[in-house]
Amino acid sequence: MTRLVYPKIYVLSRRPSSGCKYFEVRETEGMYYAYCKVLDRPLPKTVVPKCEKLWEGCPFRRLAARMEE
Ligand code: SF4
Repeated sequence: MTRLVYPKIYVLSRRPSSGCKYFEVRETEGMYYAYCKVLDRPLPKTVVPKCEKLWEGCPFRRLAARMEE
């Protein structure tokens, strides 16, 4: 039996994509999940569309970008 590494709330059936440089796509057993390098945790699938469309306004991204300056 295949063991699911991440719970269902994280698993995506399509490969996500975002302009945010802290957004990472990880793949496990043919499924995808998104990972935020600022928060240092996987992103629930309900949050992923925001990272895809509204990433420029994301407060976490802004904070991380500011700290890199
Ligand atoms: S939560 Fe913000 S910083 Fe993290 S991946 Fe999404 S848009 Fe980027």
